[in-house]
Amino acid sequence: MSAFLDARTLPRETILSPDLAIIGGGPAGISLALAMADSGQNVLLLEAGALAFEAGAQKLYQGSESGVAYTALDGGRLRFLGGSTNHWGGWCRPLDKIDFDSRDGVPHSGWPFARSEIEPYFARAQSLVEAGPWIYDGADHSVSDSGSLLRLGPGGVYTSWFQFSKTQGGILPTHFGERYQNDLKRAPHITPLLNANVTGIKLSGDASHVDHLDIVTLSGNRLTVKPRYTVLAAGAIENARLLLASNDVMAAGVGNGNDVVGRFFADHPIPRNVATLVLFDGRVAPFYSNFLTLPNGAVLRAVLSPREEFLRAHGVAGSLSTVENEIKLDPLAIAAVETTAGALGVDASGAKAFSLGCGMELAPDPERRVTLGQERDALGLPQPNLHMTITDDDFSHFRQTLAELGRQLLAAKSGMIHLSYSQRHDWLAAMDWGNHHLGTTRMSADPRQGVVDAASKVHGVANLYVAGGSVFPTYGSSNPTLNLVALTLRLADRLKKVMA
Ligand SMILES: Cc1cc2nc3c(=O)[nH]c(=O)nc-3n(C[C@H](O)[C@H](O)[C@H](O)COP(=O)(O)OP(=O)(O)OC[C@H]3O[C@@H](n4cnc5c(N)ncnc54)[C@H](O)[C@@H]3O)c2cc1C
Repeated sequence: MSAFLDARTLPRETILSPDLAIIGGGPAGISLALAMADSGQNVLLLEAGALAFEAGAQKLYQGSESGVAYTALDGGRLRFLGGSTNHWGGWCRPLDKIDFDSRDGVPHSGWPFARSEIEPYFARAQSLVEAGPWIYDGADHSVSDSGSLLRLGPGGVYTSWFQFSKTQGGILPTHFGERYQNDLKRAPHITPLLNANVTGIKLSGDASHVDHLDIVTLSGNRLTVKPRYTVLAAGAIENARLLLASNDVMAAGVGNGNDVVGRFFADHPIPRNVATLVLFDGRVAPFYSNFLTLPNGAVLRAVLSPREEFLRAHGVAGSLSTVENEIKLDPLAIAAVETTAGALGVDASGAKAFSLGCGMELAPDPERRVTLGQERDALGLPQPNLHMTITDDDFSHFRQTLAELGRQLLAAKSGMIHLSYSQRHDWLAAMDWGNHHLGTTRMSADPRQGVVDAASKVHGVANLYVAGGSVFPTYGSSNPTLNLVALTLRLADRLKKVMA
């Protein structure tokens, strides 16, 4: 078993010439390296950080922000082996079929291929994130011993299911760096290089391909990597930053001939306590508000999601609602519950109320973007600026879905909903974020609409590919990591063919 190399201790000006350089050792980079292990190609995994958190490395993630308040750029991601899985929540769910479709009334929506293209990779991705057997929306039949699904009348909202990466004593989700570092060491032909900050992707003079990568360490060492192929897997903010900052041959940055790099940044807003759910009989199965562990090891949680037909018919974006804590109603709200239940002819003497949380999809917005800021980091690279936007349509889409849920509860005579916010400033005051960084190098067959093509290759650059959430053009309400790992495994298959 070979030890990891450290870029600080290699002789200055060393030139490394792997077949494949992977920039970034998060779940995308690690999954790609492991998937390439049997390819016979020499793979260099360039990781900016060490094996554990170090404040100096993390500081290189600082940046500025404008627009709607967002998580600090050095707060919503981690710069060491394993990337942001060192503090992720482990929520997993495959993207829905509709997430890949170009939707009427949603400009810039859709992928250049259907969900079926990444389905063959879901099983291996599920295994890498360690989320147990694949169940998801097949869970309805596996949970009957633990309680009943919420009674909803016919309509646009249904109970769907998340699974959880839970391996570390059943408590913490898989931290990719810790979990896979021995596999990386053992794998033939993979060389992980730590403390290796890529600061430049240098193109050939005719901009047709990557000539070399500049590596700088915080201790002042400098190395050069001359790979045959490169995959950028440094997270959505850093992927855009590196492409934009590498502007010596293409003045607008690598792959940015059409000014798309950095645009369409996205995340899941998760405003708190968006509504009060009242159930007339007071009974909600524990799997709505907590983890349910099945005998086969799968850990599940139920959420409320809009059906595909509802999304299409109403032109709304994806979302999910979670049942959170039980709450006490004030006398006015109790009167409203009793009046409603009385009108429906049901007993509400045992009624209970719960707060609802949510995760929303934002409609694609080219102005929500990463650009280069004025400040530079300790390595001389311009810091990123993130301009964050949420439109009023984004809020109203989710309100429509909640209103539909309320209608279905009343139709089933099982409960009712009270929406908490109608004003923009109330939504923003309750806002939290998933820190699911997506969309800055979006995928499109058309180079004017996307940075990478359907194979994840940067348009116009022969040997440069991108992995991770930055290639997602649209993304629904599912958390990204399972999906970006599946997409990365697909990329590994492509690379094995083109590199052979
Ligand atoms: C608090 C929190 C909770 C989350 N919860 C969930 C969840 O429940 N479910 C879910 O699906 N997702 C969740 N996520 C998102 C998830 O962590 C990301 O989707 C995932 O980590 C992205 O993987 P990645 O490999 O593309 O990028 P990253 O994880 O960001 O990894 C990028 C790697 O590249 C390295 N790097 C960066 N710049 C350079 C450079 N210049 N040179 C060399 N290396 C570089 C970094 O050090 C890092 O190791 C959460 C994120 C956060 C912050």
